[in-house]
Amino acid sequence: MRVIDPSSGNTLAEVAEADAPAVADALQRARRAQPAWATTPLEVRRDAVRRFRALVVERTEGLAETLTREVGKPITQSRSELAGLLGRIDFFLDEVDRAVADRVVLASAADRLEERIRWEPLGVVANISAWNYPWYVGGNVFLPALLTGNAILYKPSEYATLTGLAIARLLHESGIPRDVFQTLVGGAEVGALLLAQPVDMVCFTGSHATGVRVAAAVASRLVKMQLELGGKDPVYVCEDADVATAAASVADGAFYNTGQSCCAVERVYVHERIWSRFLDAFVDVVRGYVVGDPLDERTYVGPLARGEVALTLLAEQVADARAHGGRVLLGGQRVPRPGFFFAPTVLVDVDHTMRAMREETFGPLIGLAPVASDDQAVALMSDTQYGLTASVYTPDRARAERLLGRLDVGTAYWNCCDRVSPRLPWTGRGASGLGLTLGREGVTTFLRPKAFHLRGG
Ligand code: NAD
Repeated sequence: MRVIDPSSGNTLAEVAEADAPAVADALQRARRAQPAWATTPLEVRRDAVRRFRALVVERTEGLAETLTREVGKPITQSRSELAGLLGRIDFFLDEVDRAVADRVVLASAADRLEERIRWEPLGVVANISAWNYPWYVGGNVFLPALLTGNAILYKPSEYATLTGLAIARLLHESGIPRDVFQTLVGGAEVGALLLAQPVDMVCFTGSHATGVRVAAAVASRLVKMQLELGGKDPVYVCEDADVATAAASVADGAFYNTGQSCCAVERVYVHERIWSRFLDAFVDVVRGYVVGDPLDERTYVGPLARGEVALTLLAEQVADARAHGGRVLLGGQRVPRPGFFFAPTVLVDVDHTMRAMREETFGPLIGLAPVASDDQAVALMSDTQYGLTASVYTPDRARAERLLGRLDVGTAYWNCCDRVSPRLPWTGRGASGLGLTLGREGVTTFLRPKAFHLRGG
């Protein structure tokens, strides 16, 4: 398999894909190794993850460069991803004690009865990951899963293979046994081979379309499954919001990581009373974004990791918007240079007949529309199959919380967007997924309870 540099289209590396016997063998080895890992003292498992953290710190620059070269993520954003990983690791290290501790829910001397919950690891976890934040979305699964005593078969995205291999090297160097964490290199076919193995849990991060295929592939086996899928995340800017601050924040939410975040802002509704002022400020911010070589520190918008596939989708969404009366205020076409660049694009005169306002865009394109009232904003924000995040900008917290309470989303933001915290569960509703990562529940999800009814003889 060739690894392509999306900023030039050139081949960066060639890697060997796992074949069917290799995938089956990986499962066997993981199955054999997992019980010893589960009975390894927690402190030893935790020390290994601490060493992993230290290696990430020590090698950040090289790891960031690898990520930037294969995914096209601007280098400052690659560094931020690695820095952000540290807080997540700290959270997991801290939380795992509480997660694995037995819980006594009844201790009755009179009845000589104790009821106790013991938490056991699931076993072997298949982790099929995305490329857009490989350290985050991978780490949200494999770190708590390893800490709680599971073995992992990790299939990095074919667009983030070198990072996937680097993760494996660092984990092994840190003391995680080779058979406890194994990387399976490849694309959809290798993912499908992995799903055919009798694993104990499937954790998938990717698009809704693939998520449905993953769910169908394992449905008959009743395997525990988590799906972290796409979104069409809306923002509503109220008439009392600070225009300049909100415009800068929302634009960043739409274009950070070149718009390739699951929780990227994908639709913006602005109260009509500030519509034209907001639009001017927003376009000014976007016009200021530097598009270019992702290794250059000044670059804010880089190339698209998925190359022509992503460029075609963006061009189609623009053409479709135009055909339905939409207007391109900025951008609208690919950037004439080698590699896979699309100009930051701002669409107005948009409505929900247009693909750009319904389908996940996952690129540097955003549609904005004025609204006349809070109710209209809520109706438009709710008009989607997705339910990942939504955000409201207003100085009035009570109003924001009221509006956010009416939305069927896993994450609600007041005066912020495109933000993930290790302390809060990350979960999508509707077509955005099933299950969760992060937060306390994102650690216990890799454990299963055994209920003990203990009566003194
Ligand atoms: P994708 O669905 O194309 O691929 C995801 C993974 O699935 C890859 O590793 C791929 O090789 C594998 N795969 C593809 N077909 C498969 C099959 N039939 N069986 C098994 N595995 C298969 O998604 P992507 O382009 O890597 O990621 C972008 C998508 O991920 C976006 O929709 C984004 O919103 C979503 N995402 C969601 C979250 C979240 O937390 N909700 C986080 C990051 C990305």
